[in-house]
Amino acid sequence: MQEYKRLTIILFFLFFCVFIRVDAKINDLPLLGKAIYVDPGHGGRDPGALYKDIEEADINLEISKHLVKKLEEKGAIVYIIRDGDYDLSRPNSYNIKRSDLQNRVKLINNSNIDLYLSIHLNTYSSSNWKGAQVFYDDINNNNKKLAENIQASFKKMLNSNRKIKEISTYYMYRHIKVPGALLEVGFLTNPNERHLLKTENYQKKICDSIVEGVINYYNS
Ligand SMILES: [Zn+2]
Repeated sequence: MQEYKRLTIILFFLFFCVFIRVDAKINDLPLLGKAIYVDPGHGGRDPGALYKDIEEADINLEISKHLVKKLEEKGAIVYIIRDGDYDLSRPNSYNIKRSDLQNRVKLINNSNIDLYLSIHLNTYSSSNWKGAQVFYDDINNNNKKLAENIQASFKKMLNSNRKIKEISTYYMYRHIKVPGALLEVGFLTNPNERHLLKTENYQKKICDSIVEGVINYYNS
């Protein structure tokens, strides 16, 4: 009987250890099972916003590449719309911008993904404007919730005072059926933010805040 008792205690202990370890592993991978498309804005013949020799498209791509890694570290399967300096328009298309956006929409809608994140930089006529901001289209019911969660992270981790904004006139976001958002992660026209946006440290900080917002969106 004594032996039986001891065996029961050992088995219980082993079960407890395995359970805790599995639980810790799942907690490390909160985005396990999620497929996400990262969409670096512009590229190729479309440099996006410009400030002297700085092209928005280049910074969008740098940030997007960090974002892919960080989302993968949390367990997600991640795709990227472009991984170099090119656009997605058809050769010989007379409207390069429209063709580029149409192909981005097609890629995202045909990919059976859970979420998309478009990365862009903002500009404004006043150099005082700053801060990361989330834009969303109400075509998908989850878009507002996603926008709120990422904006809350921008506030907490990047000190952004901007608010989420609904858009319905942007061709691309009006046509994507899965949840997602347009993230304008900073202003190229603000001297301080422009400097930060070029540094790897700040780019990674932006990505950490996006990842936290996405995790909170799934947990809320
Ligand atoms: Zn842009």
